[in-house]
Amino acid sequence: SAQDIADGVRAHELDREHVFHSWQAQGPFTPMTILKAEGSYVWDGEGNKLLDLSSQLVNTNIGHQHPKVVAAIQEQAGKLCTIAPQHVNDARSEAARLIAELTPGDLNHVFFTNGGADAVEHAIRMARLHTGKHKVLAAYRSYHGGTQLAVNVTGDPRRFANDHSDSGVVHFMPAYGYRSYFASTTEAEETERALRHLEDMIVLEGASNIGALILESIPGTAGIYMPPAGYMAGVRELTRKYGIVFIADEVMAGFGRSGKWFSINHWDITPDLITFAKGVNSGYVPLGGVAISDAIFETFRDRAYPGGLTYSGHPLACAAAVATIEAMKEEGMVENSARLGEDIIGPALRAMAAKHPSVGDVRGAGCFWAVELVKNRETREPLAPYGGSSPEMNQVVGALKAEGILPFANFNRIHVVPALNISDEDLLTGLAALDKALDVADGFVEA
Ligand code: PLP
Repeated sequence: SAQDIADGVRAHELDREHVFHSWQAQGPFTPMTILKAEGSYVWDGEGNKLLDLSSQLVNTNIGHQHPKVVAAIQEQAGKLCTIAPQHVNDARSEAARLIAELTPGDLNHVFFTNGGADAVEHAIRMARLHTGKHKVLAAYRSYHGGTQLAVNVTGDPRRFANDHSDSGVVHFMPAYGYRSYFASTTEAEETERALRHLEDMIVLEGASNIGALILESIPGTAGIYMPPAGYMAGVRELTRKYGIVFIADEVMAGFGRSGKWFSINHWDITPDLITFAKGVNSGYVPLGGVAISDAIFETFRDRAYPGGLTYSGHPLACAAAVATIEAMKEEGMVENSARLGEDIIGPALRAMAAKHPSVGDVRGAGCFWAVELVKNRETREPLAPYGGSSPEMNQVVGALKAEGILPFANFNRIHVVPALNISDEDLLTGLAALDKALDVADGFVEA
């Protein structure tokens, strides 16, 4: 309505005066106002309806305003909004039970945080105390969060301004077939060489110093590059061999995103710790956490865990998690995510790759896909440089927005990351818009 739009204009003015935004130069930034959101749609400040193919920051896995989850939050708010973390709370107990049941192997204990970054901080703290070893291995081309240690394990340019030399973090080259660091020409070669590199890193850095290895089960913001067959099993083997805690970061890849409850399930591996957030309750109330193995739990059976948060296991957040997981089960959303990837997104993106010379690579699973755009298929020169945008990419994104799509873009990539319960029809509409926007990208391909 006109009133909503007027309210949105006022909110925008106040935002520019008083709100300090994440990752932005505050001056030239012109954020989009969202007046409302429902299912896979959002309405912008002018009242335009946009199809959300980004799931915001790849977190609204069940779409916006799912009625079962909204009702559960309202019910919990009527009963008990908050309680200190040392007490027992029914929503928290049930959320922990459900998560323990869904995670693989013996990850039977859950420490709740407020989001992904603090989950990563605590996972590393647990690993260091469990092993008595300080160093952390992490991959380049990764994202693990914005707090001090989480951004230091991160392998993306957001780390650069936050690097500090005593973080104890050492980065290794990931297995990334499309831009192989190991000159691999086959998947098997990439697995073998990336694992050899990782083992060399462990030996050269000193296994006796390395307490943790953190790796996204499928790297998300860094490009949804699927680990080649055998790689994750190899990482599990190496971490076991050298007494290193293996932390699988499932903050973005978890809760059905790639067509399994956890992406690590694609490889039948049990890490020692899993970090989660985002999809656990679709972000309706801030929540994250660490799923902990029996062995690491034992370290803290008789020894106090030196860490905690006022809002650990917040009742509103946990009630939202319980309702989200139940809705996902009742409505078969994880199965649907797998089906959408196999039957619709994968085939559509492969057809686009065949048709558009600007598409260098498409890859993904479930509702977790990346389209990597290049100026030249032979040299694989990206359409925007690592760590930056480009006028060309901005035009592609602009073309998507003009088609009524809210996209997720990062450097030279467009990610197709819709809600797991998006309708087939809406998904096809979104993919058709992408197909059209790629014509714009094709215009930048070198002759
Ligand atoms: N880990 C991964 C893999 C992520 O994708 C993110 C956020 O995008 C984080 C950690 C940080 O989570 P948060 O932003 O909730 O702190």
